[in-house]
Amino acid sequence: MVMDKCETEFSFGGGLVGILGGTFDPVHQGHLAVAARVKDYFSLDSVIFVPAWMPPHKQEAPVSSFAHRLAMLKLAVAACPGFKVSSLEAERSGPSYTIDTLVELKNRLADQARIYFIIGIDAFVEIPSWKQYQRLPDLANFVVIEREGLKLGDDPGSVVANFSGYSFDRESKAWVALDRKGRIYPLAMEPVNVSSTMVRQRIGEGKSIFGLVPGDIEDYIARHGLYGGFASLIS
Ligand code: ATP
Repeated sequence: MVMDKCETEFSFGGGLVGILGGTFDPVHQGHLAVAARVKDYFSLDSVIFVPAWMPPHKQEAPVSSFAHRLAMLKLAVAACPGFKVSSLEAERSGPSYTIDTLVELKNRLADQARIYFIIGIDAFVEIPSWKQYQRLPDLANFVVIEREGLKLGDDPGSVVANFSGYSFDRESKAWVALDRKGRIYPLAMEPVNVSSTMVRQRIGEGKSIFGLVPGDIEDYIARHGLYGGFASLIS
């Protein structure tokens, strides 16, 4: 069975490890494309998808159960070598803060592992509202995925100015700080115009989501009648 191929309790190991956190309600082609882009660009050994147990910034809006979001992620990564899913945020109660997740990941990964925390620029510009955000670059490198019209750039007025001590290093094409461990890498990619909101909305309006999510996820959503769709009679 596909689900068995992707354990959430794998050996974390070491090497170069990408982390993609999110709500994944549901996981879609944009998430997979971004993970693939970063994995290729930095020659990462793996990318671990970390679904939020309780997304701190989405507490007013209802979110699908963790079990559904996790099950869809497992299906999505089963076909992608090097992609993994961790349910570690479900082991804590209360809001899933990135700082706590990174501290936990550092405990579980081998000492020599290097973490690349992947984040869309829309989320990155909100980072000053995150718990203990100043500590985040001490725990991981950040890869900020730019989009048309919103770039991290290399100017001193960039949102990176929220972190003390950083300046842009043209050689490594990253923001670096002498006294901080993590670098902040702006990274461009071909836009994939899909969001979980768009997927949920289209289902609610009875429209097709073909191509927006992998086929297995489309089937899963239909079978379970998620997002206001009707559960399939053949399930
Ligand atoms: P929602 O529409 O519910 O807000 P979302 O599609 O933005 O959800 P999340 O699970 O909240 O998905 O996002 C997880 C991470 O993936 C975030 O860092 C987000 O910026 C990034 N991301 C989401 N969609 C895309 C996309 N199409 N291209 C690049 N990055 C994306």
